[in-house]
Amino acid sequence: MTPKYVHRAFAVGILALYAVMGTALLTLVPISLRAQTVSTGTFQRDPQQPIDESYTQQIKKYTTAPALNSPLTDYLPASSSIPTPAKVLGDVAGAPDVLPYAEEVYQYFRLLAASTPRVKVFTIGHTEEGREMIAVAVADEELLTHAQENGARLAQLADPRTLHLDDAKAQDLISQSYPVYYITGAIHSPETGAPTALMEMTYRLAVDDAPYVKFIRSHMITLITPVVEVDGRDRMVDIYRWHKAHPGQNWPRLVYWGHYVAHDNNRDAMAMTLDLTQNVLNTYLEWHAQVLHDLHESVPFLYDNTVGDGPYNSWIDPILTDEWSMLAYDNMASMQRFGMPGAFTHGDFDTWSPGYLMFLAGMHNGISRLYETFGNGGADTEKRTLSPDEYSRTWYRPNPPYPTVLWSQRDNNNYEETALLSTLSYFAQNGKFFLNNFYLKSRRSVEKPVQAGPAAYVLAQDDRYWNRQLQLLKVLALQHVEIHRLTQAAKVALPPPPHKDEKEEEKSKPGTPPPPTSQTFPAGSLVIRMDQPFSRAADALLDRQFWSPEDPQKSPYDDTGWSFGDLFNAKVSRVTDRSILSAPMSPIPDLSQIAAPETGPGPFYVVNNSAQVSLASLVYALQGAADVSICEDTFESAGHKFAAGSLIIGHMEASILKLWLRQFDLAAVSVASRPSVKAHAAAAPRIAFMHTWQGTQTEGWWRQAFDKLHVPFAYISTQTVAKEADLRSQYDVIVFAPVGRSSAHQIVDGLPMWGNALPWQTTSLTPNLGKLDSTDDLRPGLGEPGVAHLKEFVQQGGLLITSEDTALFAIEEGMAPGVFVAPRKNLKVVGSVLNSAVVDSKQPVAYGYDATVALYSADGLAFTVSNLTVNRHILTAKDYKRPTGRGGPEDEDIPEGRPAEKAPPLPAPKPWQPTPLNEEEERNNPYLIPAAYRPQVILHYAAMKDLLLSGLLESGDAVAERPAVVVAHFGKGDVLLFANNPVYRGETIGSYALVFNAIINFGHLK
Ligand SMILES: [Zn+2]
Repeated sequence: MTPKYVHRAFAVGILALYAVMGTALLTLVPISLRAQTVSTGTFQRDPQQPIDESYTQQIKKYTTAPALNSPLTDYLPASSSIPTPAKVLGDVAGAPDVLPYAEEVYQYFRLLAASTPRVKVFTIGHTEEGREMIAVAVADEELLTHAQENGARLAQLADPRTLHLDDAKAQDLISQSYPVYYITGAIHSPETGAPTALMEMTYRLAVDDAPYVKFIRSHMITLITPVVEVDGRDRMVDIYRWHKAHPGQNWPRLVYWGHYVAHDNNRDAMAMTLDLTQNVLNTYLEWHAQVLHDLHESVPFLYDNTVGDGPYNSWIDPILTDEWSMLAYDNMASMQRFGMPGAFTHGDFDTWSPGYLMFLAGMHNGISRLYETFGNGGADTEKRTLSPDEYSRTWYRPNPPYPTVLWSQRDNNNYEETALLSTLSYFAQNGKFFLNNFYLKSRRSVEKPVQAGPAAYVLAQDDRYWNRQLQLLKVLALQHVEIHRLTQAAKVALPPPPHKDEKEEEKSKPGTPPPPTSQTFPAGSLVIRMDQPFSRAADALLDRQFWSPEDPQKSPYDDTGWSFGDLFNAKVSRVTDRSILSAPMSPIPDLSQIAAPETGPGPFYVVNNSAQVSLASLVYALQGAADVSICEDTFESAGHKFAAGSLIIGHMEASILKLWLRQFDLAAVSVASRPSVKAHAAAAPRIAFMHTWQGTQTEGWWRQAFDKLHVPFAYISTQTVAKEADLRSQYDVIVFAPVGRSSAHQIVDGLPMWGNALPWQTTSLTPNLGKLDSTDDLRPGLGEPGVAHLKEFVQQGGLLITSEDTALFAIEEGMAPGVFVAPRKNLKVVGSVLNSAVVDSKQPVAYGYDATVALYSADGLAFTVSNLTVNRHILTAKDYKRPTGRGGPEDEDIPEGRPAEKAPPLPAPKPWQPTPLNEEEERNNPYLIPAAYRPQVILHYAAMKDLLLSGLLESGDAVAERPAVVVAHFGKGDVLLFANNPVYRGETIGSYALVFNAIINFGHLK
């Protein structure tokens, strides 16, 4: 037993005690709140209420073992006026073979709303593909009728500034208010059980007269979004229909869930790029809900991951960590009392990253919760065989799942509903307590500058950062974070520098000026105050993260670092001096107020390249309408300094240009004549975006970025490339974004060709498939012909853009001569933010960047480069160890009886450089790459001391100073290789320009 678990066991003991002594907890709450607290402890049904016998019979029939149901859900109360889910489904919730489309789920909720005042349905927005998202509120009529007044009271608790932080006023509001508990289902499309479970649970909440249910609906509003990923749900139902229509055959995998991403739709809570994330947060905040509880299916039989494992997120209020424990341990205690096997909390999910949908609540003063239940990926009843790590008994899983089980969708629904109903009961009984916590967390968020700091984050006014700062502010605005702008310059004291060790002190030269003690931000700088209700959301995104290599948690569940100031390359300062809060500033309620300055009358314009995210957007928008060129050197004009890579625009109507500049968050300087600097025409090359049929998620983030930036492309697959012999006549650039941990062999071979074809096509049976792209068989990959076509494409002058696994593919297929993978040694990186340095600012890919660029690295991939096409080690000065002989270790050996011959110096390349070859090594060497075809390193990772910006880094020497971004030359064309992922989850705005610079400088990368 490790110390970690001793600690855990102790914590569990304490929490079990809490659960038993429910009332003891409440002594923390003012007496007025106690009266309402009831501890029924029972979930008995009302014996007077009739049961829907046939529905109840079906529940029993589809439940595969009595222990897999509970007294809460082993019957359905009857109603003469309110329809059961069978009205729409034709059978009970969770029945085998029944998987409703989102529209059918909505139809049922609307039937409910039409038949009882206890249910209301609202449209909360639409998806990328235009499908509706809904929220359903269920409570007593009295509560729903006055939901607005209740919401107005909760709004004041949510923003205690409106109460002048007056606790007495807050208690008064709490005594009149009831809480809101928001449940979301089916964000992960192959996890199919939640919609029917939520349909039936809503019926129960509206109809059942069991005392505990009556208590829930009279003391809180339950808010439900039954399908979060609506696009993916409809595709999943299509797949299931295909499967039912083709018995005995393999069925296609769900290659597309949402329009852009698959399970990463549950990693969007930071950058908020997806419609579903925005719709859920807006709903959560409009209702001022206290909980966001997301339903998943991947762990037998019910894993309440609320408690999770360490490390916990460092930016949440400690109150929340205790709320997690209270809710989860009470919930699991109920499940144990019902005798349902396999229900547990703790588990291996760490609670570090705030990227999960549920975490929207954690970052907005609410409570985030998540269940993993067990699912079969459809409504088939299946014999399931578990692995030992799933069924073994352990301290936190005293009643583990069965090693094998016949499992049905009904079993899943029993678990989801039982756990939810019992937790709603606990929450309703302790509603005032949780409302009080909600107020306390909100108040402490407002008091953050005094209680913990920092005081604010400041985005210094600086034209070079403005475009990306604006992208960051847009994210903060989506997070409902308030933004201010300094109306005058503000000077703040800097915290003392971190402690330096003595050696460091010795090295600093005498006469070196002391580090600055203050910093002045010019007027116009943007301020994110930490004395606002959602300060934690901003703090968690803008601060840096450190995951210790010594942390007992050795398997981070997701990324360990995400510092948005770095990843957006936005120059963000963490300010601890609270005087910043009294500096003159005004709120910016609408980001359009911070548009770029107006441009003059022309006739020429220059858009300085500062690695903006949207220069390519402008180039494509102006294609054919204006004369756009890209300068190849720095220059000065009209009193401004311009970087290499700046756009020079001529023959353009000023009023039209202005509209485009505004749309793309760009600014231009008007100049009277065309600058004389050397320039080439900006390219708007024909782009093909190539995907595999194995994974479309990681490329989905790229596709989303291209769409949002209005950079046009043809969407093709590896199968298209296998068939098209002449790619070069159709395309200039092929973007092969990461597949996601795929091997070159998987890309080439695809899936094994045994069994039947797996179609992905629009048919009457599968109307939602085959829209983004289609194939009559998902299995074939790129194939050898595809590899040959891709090689020809590059050799004939095309540009292939690759990253992570597709860069490895390009290397392995011989398309990146002289580029190799750096040995990993004991390196450990898990989704970290690493620093890199620009090698040559006049290389077009690096245009506009400062000396350093923050990169997102999934696992620490780095390259080495060579002047040879083979990875042959050449002795360098660093490797040389003098042999035994005369003198000290550093001295030269001199043979006796003859004068010493001076040896030529051994090469001493930097880790990002190729080792130069001497004449001997070059002579008649067929592997030698001619000088013009040698790879160019664009960025290399920073030296060890500057390498880690955020997250986990262990044994970083393997990656320090190694090439990160390289252009290889193959035939007449180029292959751009990223060891990092420059376009990831909408979080890496700062590195987007590396990709788009390459595109608009097509043909000029050598
Ligand atoms: Zn899931």
